Amino acid sequence: MFCPRIREVEARKVVTPAFDGTAIIEYYCPLCGSLLEMRREKLVLPERKIPVKKGAYIAFEGIDGSGKSYYLRSVSEDLRREGFEVIVVKEPWLKAVKDFLYKHEIDPYAEVYVFAADRIILQKEVVLPALERGKSF
Ligand SMILES: [Zn+2]
Repeated sequence: MFCPRIREVEARKVVTPAFDGTAIIEYYCPLCGSLLEMRREKLVLPERKIPVKKGAYIAFEGIDGSGKSYYLRSVSEDLRREGFEVIVVKEPWLKAVKDFLYKHEIDPYAEVYVFAADRIILQKEVVLPALERGKSF
């Protein structure tokens, strides 16, 4: 791609998904940061890399008080009524991590890493093995 300020450059691509099934694709100059091109395309999701053949994983995301627990209960009851085996997990998963985060005010960046480590453990030890056995979360 060509940057008018510099020359031919290997543009940095930024993809921002939208709610209408499209994505805004932006190309930036890696040297000066200028926006070189912007367009909207149909969103193509990356191929799923987790080798799961059975089961389903449903995540409820939201801020505190947004109703995650309510919808979690409602959906899991509906799925059980339909005959699915449902396992419910909540993050942080490890009690030690939960206790630590509630008791200590830590650097926000460090908190992200603690949450990420907790999620990896939950996924590897609980979620993925259960999905392989055909459970729904
Ligand atoms: Zn540039």
